[in-house]
Amino acid sequence: MFVKRRSFFKIFSTLIAGLFFPSCTTVPVTNRTQLNLVPDKWIRWISDKYYYDYLDDNLINHQEKYLGRVLKIGQRIEKGIEKYFEIEKLNFKKYRLDYEINVVDDKRNLNAFAMANAKIVFFRRIIDFAETDDQIAAIMGHEMGHVLAKHMHERISHRLTWDILTLGIAEIFAELGFFLPWSRKQESEADYLGVVFMTLAGYEPTEAAMFWSKLDKYIKKVKKYKSKHDLLARVKRNLPEFTSTHPFPERRSKNILKWSEEVKEKYKDYI
Ligand SMILES: [Zn+2]
Repeated sequence: MFVKRRSFFKIFSTLIAGLFFPSCTTVPVTNRTQLNLVPDKWIRWISDKYYYDYLDDNLINHQEKYLGRVLKIGQRIEKGIEKYFEIEKLNFKKYRLDYEINVVDDKRNLNAFAMANAKIVFFRRIIDFAETDDQIAAIMGHEMGHVLAKHMHERISHRLTWDILTLGIAEIFAELGFFLPWSRKQESEADYLGVVFMTLAGYEPTEAAMFWSKLDKYIKKVKKYKSKHDLLARVKRNLPEFTSTHPFPERRSKNILKWSEEVKEKYKDYI
């Protein structure tokens, strides 16, 4: 009975939502069709709200060795994205975003995240952990990939089809805490986009594989000693962190290495 009601709601709400909004968009680069029921304006508004609240609660780092460094890398990746659209003769205007990058002084977490309004936050620790510019570029390309591919719109759209009739829209956002974990498909797509963009920006894409496997090893080591109820776990639960959604790290590295070769070959005249 419960299942029937849920699937009825799902079909009905998809139909209703389809009457009001365009329901599908295509991800650039991978050309995957995705469900998108959320107008850009809404998601930008609500993302801004959460973003500025978040910045208010956290110490921002302005040092050249942190913020200065990631800003330069961010600009290069943005140019890499633009280059992709030029090479493929695609219309970049639709995808030009006003990226904003910040570094927060949170020493407890190895993290970085991107929001749908093109705001990207790096934790200082992840910059130290990454060591090289190429590895920071791997994180940047991956995070910008999530934004460009509208992954947040997609996650919320899936939830809307289920919940729109039982909850109000504001309640859904509140319930989600806005920070949704990405699906494995989205993670993998962001990895691929990251490889393309960092390669075209002149970075070494195999460094992305090095970085993720280094991070995975570190997390496995730490997990052995941490209980589920410590502060770290509580903080992590509220963030869309890339460290909790990768159940197949070995495959991830293999994929990245394979894509790196393909992408380098495909764009060898442009890099
Ligand atoms: Zn991710």
